[in-house]
Amino acid sequence: MRVLVTGGAGYIGAHTSRLLAARGDYVLVVDDLVTGSADRIPGIPVVTLNIANGSAEQLESLMREHRIDAVIHFAAQKQVGESVAKPAWYYEQNVGSVAQLLLAMERASVHKLVFSSSAAVYGEASGIITEEASANPINPYGATKLVAEQLISACARSWPLRAASLRYFNVGGAGVPELGDTQALNLIPICFEQIAAHKSPLIFGDDYDTADGTCVRDYVHVSDVADAHLAVLDVLPSEPGNEVLNIGTGIGTSVRDMVDAILEVTASELSAEVRERRAGDPAAVVGAVDRMRELTGWSARYSVADIVESAWASRQYFEARAASS
Ligand code: UDP
Repeated sequence: MRVLVTGGAGYIGAHTSRLLAARGDYVLVVDDLVTGSADRIPGIPVVTLNIANGSAEQLESLMREHRIDAVIHFAAQKQVGESVAKPAWYYEQNVGSVAQLLLAMERASVHKLVFSSSAAVYGEASGIITEEASANPINPYGATKLVAEQLISACARSWPLRAASLRYFNVGGAGVPELGDTQALNLIPICFEQIAAHKSPLIFGDDYDTADGTCVRDYVHVSDVADAHLAVLDVLPSEPGNEVLNIGTGIGTSVRDMVDAILEVTASELSAEVRERRAGDPAAVVGAVDRMRELTGWSARYSVADIVESAWASRQYFEARAASS
């Protein structure tokens, strides 16, 4: 297949681009290289472009010139806090890019799309969450992902677009150290930061209605997430539509268990400190992943230990690189 990957020099995008290239697909990456880096995808052509505004014509030409069959769209802004501070910019970037892409795809007759969505669309839903759960995002980041999904669905009703929107749960780890996420502001990297500064990792609330009182999340390894894109690309339905699919493990891990795993992997003598709950955190968010398994046969292979170990190895790789430069 000949695949255009937007955001293909970023964290999940680079893992996916490398997998596609390794199995013999032609890959063209379009990335603004603001947070991504072309070093992550050696040998894969990269067009440097932010697609949020006025890019449809250029994208259409690229699709024609490179005889593209399918698009995987990762390029987006992903920091929840920043989306609260800059909502209009988040809509421009995360919805504008999808609009430009769809305009180009329709004109160039490219009819296959895999879209990078997020479990953030579920908002404060708690428990094991199926794709049927109502989507009520509680921040602009989640809202942009939901609006983009709706835009894709509308196009699939208007022209023969065969799409899937993948709602990722808590993605972590690195397939190889140089592909780790250097932008992440979530539990695992925050704990690493604390430990590196000889400070205790913090647990935000231990009075939730869960087995150990701390929040439960579904952590999925980035290599599994990348693999999921290939699996979906191969089975996009023959009928137009937008298939919404959870991408997780179906297994919940508490913050306490995750922090213990982090302390062990980092061989830290520190212990966790419990603080107040963080506003807006649902008690438990675990993906029901049956739909994805039934459609594609895919399921996650990596464990929480694999996620933490590979994330730590990646952090050490980037620290060593920074120290030697
Ligand atoms: N969390 C924590 N301590 C931290 C960072 C996060 O206890 O230093 C908790 C957070 O309250 C949530 C869970 O870890 O319950 C996962 O948070 P994260 O921001 O990684 O992802 P989210 O599920 O909120 O998108």
